[in-house]
Amino acid sequence: MRQSKLFTKTRNTAPKDAVSASHKYLIQGGFADMLMAGVYTYLPLGYRVIKNISNIIREEMDKTGAQEMLMPALQPKGIWDETGRWESLEEIMYQFKDRSGKDAGLGATHEEVIYDIVRRNINSYKDLPFAIYQIQNKFRNELRAKGGLMRGREFMMKDLYSFHISQEDLDEYYNEMINVYKRVYERCGLEAKVVEASGGVFTKKYSHEFQIIAEAGEDDIIYCTKCDFAQNTEIAKSKAGDACPKCGENLKQGKSIEAGNIFQFGDQYAKDMNGYASNKDGEKKPIFMASYGIGISRLVATIVEIYNDDKGIIWPESVAPFKAHLISLNKNEEAEVIYDKLVKAGVDVLYDDRDSSAGEKFSDADLLGIPYRLVISKKTGDQIEVKKRNEENSEILSIDEVMGLIQK
Ligand code: ATP
Ligand code: MG
Repeated sequence: MRQSKLFTKTRNTAPKDAVSASHKYLIQGGFADMLMAGVYTYLPLGYRVIKNISNIIREEMDKTGAQEMLMPALQPKGIWDETGRWESLEEIMYQFKDRSGKDAGLGATHEEVIYDIVRRNINSYKDLPFAIYQIQNKFRNELRAKGGLMRGREFMMKDLYSFHISQEDLDEYYNEMINVYKRVYERCGLEAKVVEASGGVFTKKYSHEFQIIAEAGEDDIIYCTKCDFAQNTEIAKSKAGDACPKCGENLKQGKSIEAGNIFQFGDQYAKDMNGYASNKDGEKKPIFMASYGIGISRLVATIVEIYNDDKGIIWPESVAPFKAHLISLNKNEEAEVIYDKLVKAGVDVLYDDRDSSAGEKFSDADLLGIPYRLVISKKTGDQIEVKKRNEENSEILSIDEVMGLIQK
């Protein structure tokens, strides 16, 4: 991709109200553009990151045998009345009347929609267990939608729903999914703590959150530095300095970002929405359900909170919008040749072919945070000066050496 053609350009100033690194750099770098509070366009650079994260999630979900589909965002009140959530979610859910006077709403989550399909299609244990997921925009009427992609009123989520003939079977799948989730965050460059939490506004029961320790976080967790014990302070009985109830080590407290949340609904939906299947002995049993969410757009912001410095973003390679940032310091035939070679070799490369100063190009490169910076100048001849975004020193390499380095 030629940077001269890239939509949009970097901006000189950060948004006035930006308090976090992610809000500042994602807007300034041209990754996202605000339409209204909490509602953003993912610009080409940002959408590349979204797609990389989504693909990691898809790979990990597909490996478990889960199937991807896409449910409607526009939903009738009826299914929500069956569980009583039309009323209990009235503040957070966008609800309105359509032209014929019927009540409708925008999906804040999709348990009602999926359970309605499941009860009409599943009636035997032979079809259980199974899991369905989607990647889709959710709508929530958030009051505090101020921090860029961190808290949107329209935001992207991966939501997965699993269905089981018994609580035991649900438990087993749920515990496996905790490990799958940990792998997703790890592949995005993040270390997630698995935190016990309340069920929130969507269920009365407990849940598990995947929290990333970060100053910009809105959550507070108590965690052990030695073992995996961690609780959200909203439910925690211990405090910082107490002995860990699991291993005795000192507990710590820290701000963190909720990057995912998984819930067990047990047989609640079976009762509310009448979903039953026959077991091996022909007896009618409730279809158990659990839900598993990952905030994809929030993850983009979370990664930036962890990977940045005073100049900009430092993307982990697995999610970076481009692998390499080729910078030509003067109108330079050599740069064109190298760009062609990289493109032909299938390297994702952003090529700064613009007619701007070296200073401007370098500061943009630091802001955008692409992992490998490749500089071509009078000084380098047919060689390339290579610098990683997260390292200080550069080295001069041949094109073949560069290929070897970035394709490994
Ligand atoms: P929060 O407590 O932050 O409001 P939640 O518990 O209501 O979130 P869930 O229903 O658990 O959210 O949604 C699953 C995941 O989606 C969350 O763990 C989070 O990563 C993400 N998420 C939730 N709300 C938002 C939002 N308004 N903007 C961006 N991501 C969100
Ligand atoms: Mg949650």
